[in-house]
Amino acid sequence: MRRSKQSYRCSFCGKDKSEALILIAGIEGHICEVCVEQAVDIIEEELYGNNKKPHTPPPPPTDFILPDNIAPKEIKEHLDQYVIGQEDAKKTLSVAVYNHYKRLRQQHQDDIDIEKSNVLFVGETGTGKTLMAKTIAKFLNVPFAIVDATVFTEAGYVGEDVESILSRLLQVCDYNVAAAEKGIVYIDEIDKIARKSDNPSITRDVSGEGVQQGMLKMLEGTDVNVPPQGGRKHPEQKLVKVNTHNILFICGGAFDGIEKHIARRMNTHVIGYKADEKHIVDRDNLIKYVNHQDLKRFGLIPELVGRLPVATYLEPLDVDTLRRILTEPRNALLKQYTKLFALEGIKLSFTLEAIDYIARQALEFKLGARGLRSICEAVMTDAMFELPSQRHIKEFTVTEDYAIEKFERSKYSMLKAA
Ligand code: ADP
Repeated sequence: MRRSKQSYRCSFCGKDKSEALILIAGIEGHICEVCVEQAVDIIEEELYGNNKKPHTPPPPPTDFILPDNIAPKEIKEHLDQYVIGQEDAKKTLSVAVYNHYKRLRQQHQDDIDIEKSNVLFVGETGTGKTLMAKTIAKFLNVPFAIVDATVFTEAGYVGEDVESILSRLLQVCDYNVAAAEKGIVYIDEIDKIARKSDNPSITRDVSGEGVQQGMLKMLEGTDVNVPPQGGRKHPEQKLVKVNTHNILFICGGAFDGIEKHIARRMNTHVIGYKADEKHIVDRDNLIKYVNHQDLKRFGLIPELVGRLPVATYLEPLDVDTLRRILTEPRNALLKQYTKLFALEGIKLSFTLEAIDYIARQALEFKLGARGLRSICEAVMTDAMFELPSQRHIKEFTVTEDYAIEKFERSKYSMLKAA
């Protein structure tokens, strides 16, 4: 049956599809975004009288400017409160972010156009890449979105268009385009869209290179027509124009196997130079020498590498760092458990040996710091279950023996045995 033109108008205000930003289809008709907003206002007025919109968060700032008294050092000091170790990455990110927002402030003053300092993090999973991007966005109070590069495909393939990277950003700031245009986007798993020919371990390549191509303009700075709801599932949605000139893109990936490219390059460099003591290569941690050449060899196209001028690395976490992650960050896991127990009136503590045991288990599972949470849960669940009903207990200490007993019995230790 042919649909009449009438069915593509808002049934409330009569606005045509082409005039509405979003037209939501119902059983009998459609409703546009303006009428939805008005309907919400009416409902709120009915429910809350004059105290309108009790749950609406304040809109994000639209004219964000980095405060004058903030220098890279202060940015890093803030990161230090949440991210343990990773000194090089924190320093590099602090400078990149500082320059990015300084550039934003200085625009249009003379002919010199400071280029964008998009950042690339190379480091194993669970070493703090996302945490760093998230922490910096929170500090700056700018909209922040995390997207996964693996869901994107070249136009024409099944998957999402790269433009929907910006849909997420729009969504987190309530479609405030001006705020989104000064936000930060973290694109995770960028290594998974590497060109296959240079990297036999990647199994999908319908469009790895095509996706990289698709990202180029966006990373550099251009007007992008963004589907506000993302994806391709809503063909009726009207596109929103977002300029990416001032959006900071931070990309991250594990780049499994990049060490062999680094090793090869460094060996060829060493030839012809006299090795001196100052330049001893840390062969166990080759990742710290990663450069743009290695990224190209790995399978990122040169144009993409060029648009990520700041490349830095995150070190694998050792037991000592994992131990510190458990206790030192402002919202460290063990601080969280201690607070939970304090709310029950119980003073919780962990012996150093117990902390060490948890850190060692996380290292064995090779999940980086991400494993710490599940291990702690396995150790703490029984105590969290039983203690609230044993009201006479006012103090509880997690010893190494207790941690071993609880963890060995949990489903996680089964995984280790498998
Ligand atoms: P990825 O490198 O895979 O992006 P994430 O940043 O998501 O890793 O880290 C996972 C979790 O592990 C974080 O939520 C954080 O709690 C913890 N974590 C990882 N690395 C660090 C670190 N260097 N300092 C503090 N916490 C960390």
